[in-house]
Amino acid sequence: MSDPVRHPRAITIENGKIHINHLSPSSIEAFAGPYGCELAWYYRYIERRPAGAFGGALLAGRGWDTAMLTAHDQPWVEPDEAAEAFLDEIEHTLARTDEEWDVASGDLSVMRNRGPLAAKAYVERELPQIHALATQKKIAVRFKEVDWPVIGYIDRLEARPAGGVAIADDKATLSTSRKWDEDAANTSLQLNVYALACAQESIAASSIGYRSARLLKTKQELKQAFVPITEEAKARTVEIIAAVGDRIEHACETGVFVPTAYIDQRWKCSQKFCSWYSSCEFGAKARMSASLAQSAREAGL
Ligand code: SF4
Repeated sequence: MSDPVRHPRAITIENGKIHINHLSPSSIEAFAGPYGCELAWYYRYIERRPAGAFGGALLAGRGWDTAMLTAHDQPWVEPDEAAEAFLDEIEHTLARTDEEWDVASGDLSVMRNRGPLAAKAYVERELPQIHALATQKKIAVRFKEVDWPVIGYIDRLEARPAGGVAIADDKATLSTSRKWDEDAANTSLQLNVYALACAQESIAASSIGYRSARLLKTKQELKQAFVPITEEAKARTVEIIAAVGDRIEHACETGVFVPTAYIDQRWKCSQKFCSWYSSCEFGAKARMSASLAQSAREAGL
C-alpha cells in the first residue's frame, strides 16, 4: 500500500532561490528525455502554470494503475472487480472539475471497451502466476553526485518463478507503436533507479521489467518483458543522474530554462503532447506570430 507520509514538494522557492528537495525519475526524464522540454519542466515544477487539457494516454494509464491496485492490494479479487475499477477510474477522472480532459472519442471508446476486458484478462491469466512481495513500495535513492534524493514508487516487487526478485512496472498504452519490451526495460532510467534503490536497501532484486496492457481498437494485449539487472546499466544510470542533475541545478541557479523541444523540432512541441502549448511563447503563440508575419509578407505589408 502507498505510504501515507507525503514528501515535501519536489521544488520549493526560498528567498527567491529555487531549491530542489527531491526529484523522481519521470521528472528527470521530463527535463532531458526524448519526451521532455526544459521550458515545460519550468512551467510544471517551478511556475506551476496550469496545464491545458490532458489526453487519452494519461487517462488510460490512470485507469490501468487503479485496476492493478485493485488486483494486487487484496488477497482475493474477482476479475469483474478489476474491470470495474478501470472503468470507474476513467469515468470519475473525466467528471473531475479541477482538470481538463480532451480525449478523442475513438480513444475513449477503445478504453471503455478494451480496458475492462484487459483488466479482467489480467486477473484471470496473469495474476495467478504473480507472487507479489510488495506493491507501491516507496524508494529514495541517494547519489553522491547530487545533493538531493531521487524518489519514486515501485509498482511491485515480485518473486520470480526461477528464483530472485523482480522489479515490475505496470504500463498501459493506446499506441500501436509504443513498446514496453526488453530493450525499453534495459535502458529505462526509472527501472534502473529502482534497481539501485533495492541495492541500497539490500533487497536482492535480480531483474527489472514491464507488465503492459496495450488497448487496441480490435483487441487488448497483455505482455511482460523482464531483463536481468546489470552493473553496466546501473553505472550508466548513475552517470545520467549526475549529468542531467548538473543541468537541472544549473538551470535552477541561473533561471534559464531552454525550450529544448522547440529548438530540436520534436513532436513533443505540439498541441497533442505539450500541456502548455497554448500558453508557451514557443508554442501556439510562436506559430500564430509566424503565420501573421507570413500573411503580412504575402499581402506585401
Ligand atoms: S510549447 Fe514547446 S517549447 Fe513550449 S513548453 Fe511546450 S514543448 Fe517546450
